[in-house]
Amino acid sequence: MPHIDRILIATRNAGKIREIAAILGRHGIETVTLADLLMLLDVEETGATFLENAAKKASEYSAAAGMYSLAEDSGLEVAALGGRPGVLSARYAGESSDYETKIRTLLAELDEAASDDRSARFVCSMAFADPAGEVIWTTQGICEGEVAASPRGANGFGYDPIFKPVGFAETFGELDDDVKRSVSHRAKATDSFMRFFLDFIGG
Ligand code: IMP
Repeated sequence: MPHIDRILIATRNAGKIREIAAILGRHGIETVTLADLLMLLDVEETGATFLENAAKKASEYSAAAGMYSLAEDSGLEVAALGGRPGVLSARYAGESSDYETKIRTLLAELDEAASDDRSARFVCSMAFADPAGEVIWTTQGICEGEVAASPRGANGFGYDPIFKPVGFAETFGELDDDVKRSVSHRAKATDSFMRFFLDFIGG
């Protein structure tokens, strides 16, 4: 039965760290970040799928830190755009463009597609690797919803102001953090991780 004091949350995205750490914290699991470890390594996301990228990040950051680590890769899939931006969500409309630009570009593309179908989903693949860099668990969480007509709300991060999860009239940008932390793709993946992890450590 492994004794694990703390887990590395292997991402530099502050929004992701907040959401994952909040859920793990509810279970008393201590987390550290790449910034806490002064980790300079920047793992390249060269995979064709969310799962490949999550596994690559978990494996390489775990091995570099010599710690158990949890990594994720996520993004927004818009049906009328054939699933784009998908794995390229962070790089959509240019890697260095801000989210105002990415959102404006996406809404314009959707207008051009001239489709009534505004359905979309957030996907989060998550991977957990041991200190040797071996991936020992993976999962995928999905949150179905649709793209709002225009951005609303300032909560969350990324595409949250234009994503309305199924069952809500508000966007993730408008909904309370607690709501996002119970229905989002990341919440589902993190809850699944919790079930695995408690069993793994024999709790
Ligand atoms: P990556 O996993 O580092 O490739 O980045 C995922 C990108 O997908 C983020 O930078 C956001 O653009 C988008 N994304 C993933 N999850 C969320 C979310 O919960 N809300 C809003 N945008 C998200």
